[in-house]
Amino acid sequence: MFHVEQTMNKFDVIIIGGGHAGTEAAAAAARMGVRTALITHKASTIGEMSCNPAIGGVAKGTLVKEIDALDGVMGRAIDRAGIHYRVLNQSKGPAVRGPRAQADRKLYREAVQAILNEYDNLTIIEDEVDDIQRESISITGVIGTSGNLYEASRIVLTTGTFLNGLIHIGEKTIPAGRVDEKPALGLSKTLYGFGLNMGRLKTGTPPRLDGKTVDWDKCEPQPGDDPAQPFSYLTDSITLPQVTCYITHTTPESHAIIRDNLDRAPMYSGKIESTGPRYCPSIEDKVVRFAERERHQIFLEPEGLDDDTVYPNGISTSLPEDVQLAILKNIPGLEQAVMIRPGYAIEYDYVDPRELHKTLEVKQVPGLYLAGQINGTTGYEEAGGQGLIAGLNAALASTNKDIFTLDRADGYIGVMIDDLTSLGTQEPYRMFTSRSEYRLTIRPDNADLRLTPLGIAIGCVGEKRATIFSQKLQQLERARDTLNTHVITPNKAKEFGLTLNQDGVKRSAFDLLSYPHIDKHDVFRIWPELSNVSHDVFEQCEIEAIYKGYLDRQASDIQAFRKEESVKVPDSIDYDAISSLSNEIKEKLKSSRPDTLGAASRIPGVTPAAIMALMVHIRQSKAA
Ligand code: FAD
Repeated sequence: MFHVEQTMNKFDVIIIGGGHAGTEAAAAAARMGVRTALITHKASTIGEMSCNPAIGGVAKGTLVKEIDALDGVMGRAIDRAGIHYRVLNQSKGPAVRGPRAQADRKLYREAVQAILNEYDNLTIIEDEVDDIQRESISITGVIGTSGNLYEASRIVLTTGTFLNGLIHIGEKTIPAGRVDEKPALGLSKTLYGFGLNMGRLKTGTPPRLDGKTVDWDKCEPQPGDDPAQPFSYLTDSITLPQVTCYITHTTPESHAIIRDNLDRAPMYSGKIESTGPRYCPSIEDKVVRFAERERHQIFLEPEGLDDDTVYPNGISTSLPEDVQLAILKNIPGLEQAVMIRPGYAIEYDYVDPRELHKTLEVKQVPGLYLAGQINGTTGYEEAGGQGLIAGLNAALASTNKDIFTLDRADGYIGVMIDDLTSLGTQEPYRMFTSRSEYRLTIRPDNADLRLTPLGIAIGCVGEKRATIFSQKLQQLERARDTLNTHVITPNKAKEFGLTLNQDGVKRSAFDLLSYPHIDKHDVFRIWPELSNVSHDVFEQCEIEAIYKGYLDRQASDIQAFRKEESVKVPDSIDYDAISSLSNEIKEKLKSSRPDTLGAASRIPGVTPAAIMALMVHIRQSKAA
């Protein structure tokens, strides 16, 4: 399907790695109109989901919407491959709702590849990049194991779990980037050679099962939402057939097997020392950490419409194969299940993200950008969000344009990049709504309103999306007007069964929506014509009405935050020259090297007095 290039070539931007960060970076650079190459091991694995075949979830779903709002790939791809949609936390407030979809793994890959194929200025090259070339401090290109040299002055590295990857299955260890794929060893050496601060992390995956051998009658069905709500602002409706997922649980018997074999688990035998994702622990971890619990939930998720493989979400493990089989035999519904592939853990190198600017460019290596798991994150959505920012900035830099960054009030992408670059991470970083101080403002439903105008301004949003967005803005304006001009007296409202303060003051439809005891159905009973407003647009107005007071307060908090954020800390700053800073604070600032005063203030232990001293120093240096 792809035009696979085999020869040496010159590009403006080269992306290394065809995972979730790499595909967003490549598409973003291509949307900016620069000559882009994506170099990856195998073109056929572009868009591969290394672990669970699902996109989104709480906070992660918002990341997908944000990527989509900037015209990225992920939202469109999942809408072509989604076979089970569910909005998590649907009954809770709009800030914590989490759109999620189960994907047909093969269709997802195909969708990503088809979308990349639409960019004429994007060349896909199959090679393994082994080294990065520099002349003095400027990047000049990369070298493949094929011996080919690929020239570009901007490189985005998105190698996921491949850097020095080592798989563990019980006592067995296999050097690999993913199952059956070789690790990237040369690039790891190159990054160490640049003097970057690096570490090791680990993650794991469960065994895969043959769905034909699962006893589904013993499991509890979990249907998806009907109708399914698409991720992308460009998708009208989901047309793929939808499937049901199922739930089963581990048992005390399976826990006993795990406990009896802990000495054979690499994490407990001391073979793996690196840290894994705390919020996505292996089953052996759960059994040890939550010893009082008799069972843990397992979601049985089909991997495709024409694929019997089942992904048992919740039992990721690196125990030996025979122990994995014994565990399965003691789980209801899985007693006879055939294990297609054992679960495993993988250890890999990552770069301390404090080495990066907010553009994701490496501070010490201008022209080199890093995105995805290589920066210590976990998850497709986190990788995609970073890829987008790195790809855009690499393209902007290659044409000498201003950088593009998002702040904590713009969206979760901004929160993630600020957390990573200011605070670093000692464990795989995953997005949560609790990481955001402005989560009422940066919701999944309004990602387009927040970000699409920024994307249009820098030129990364295509015509189709820009047109749809402008139509939505007009509809929203009209709907807000209509809701404000439809009014009712308390007396008249009583006739519709609505109790209001009998003060004679007229209330608008917008006012009515802000009352906790009144919902849109009450409003539609009074003014049936309002039910013609599109679902998305009405939902937006409803949220604005319900949370108006909170949103106004948050808007003034955001204003104050942006004031601090606008004070840039120069790269050349000499913290040792600020005598009023304690040595401890100097060390913290030197290891994080924050880009802005705001980022400095979020480093734990950096006091308001230190921020004041820093601000005075920056002002004096500017004046000098
Ligand atoms: P990847 O998707 O890994 O893509 C890396 C790409 O780079 C690949 O295409 C590879 O071929 C290419 N590449 C690497 N080196 C080179 C080179 N030298 N030259 C050319 N191409 C190269 N996430 C979760 O959220 N929850 C989980 O439970 C979870 N479990 C996981 C379990 C396992 C075993 C693995 C492997 C991953 C797991 N993940 C999990 C992580 C998730 O898969 C990643 O976060 C996500 O895929 C990262 O995207 P990425 O683009 O950074 O890297």
